Amino acid sequence: MSFNLVMIGPPGAGKGTQADRVCRAYGIPKISTGDILREAVHDGTSLGRQVKETIATGSLVSDEIMIGVVRERLGRPDARRGFILDGFPRTVTQAKALDEMIDGRGPIIAIVMSVPEPELVRRLGVRRVCADCGTTYGGPGSVTESSGAGRCTRCGGLLVQRDDDNIDVIRQRLRVFTEATEPLVRYYEGRPTFASINGLQPPDKVTADLRAHIETALAMSRAGGRAEA
Ligand code: AMP
Repeated sequence: MSFNLVMIGPPGAGKGTQADRVCRAYGIPKISTGDILREAVHDGTSLGRQVKETIATGSLVSDEIMIGVVRERLGRPDARRGFILDGFPRTVTQAKALDEMIDGRGPIIAIVMSVPEPELVRRLGVRRVCADCGTTYGGPGSVTESSGAGRCTRCGGLLVQRDDDNIDVIRQRLRVFTEATEPLVRYYEGRPTFASINGLQPPDKVTADLRAHIETALAMSRAGGRAEA
């Protein structure tokens, strides 16, 4: 049965790492809107030029642009059997648009990962990414460990700090999460497919909780419960 997983959580909660694990386990694509935007900036496309400044300051890109990006991505064949969204929706307007886009394409399983702010600041401060392939290092439970020479063990690229992982922008992104994204939790929490997961636990335990919740939500959907409500 296809399903659509939505990962909600502040920056540094471990959404990307966990989404990678789940997409491998279920064979469905992980769609990270942050990755899509960063690639566009890197490639200098017209989308990239539009969003560059917004990302640099830690604010949210407009709902209109983001909904367009996700609509296009979900229209591709590999997303027909389900997907994992990492970083979208981030506002209630985006969540409503997503409901319309996937009407009849399996349930939305929404997960919020919670981690206290001091730990988020610590994690984002030590996070490094490969400048070439984007692999994340030093994040919570990252499957990867760098070679110790500041190089990516997958492709040899240079490990760098994300531009928006500096302390001022981190604080702004956390503020934005509290104001714009937390209302999303209220949007989804009445649904039987919603769950909150403690992101402070060891990464393997977070993955186990996540998979257990997905299985429960799918069983409810198969049983014709109100999982798609
Ligand atoms: P992330 O990698 O998910 O932390 O996203 C990096 C940045 O991309 C965010 O700080 C926003 O500026 C932008 N962004 C990513 N996804 C969205 C979204 N769904 N809505 C608005 N802005 C987004």
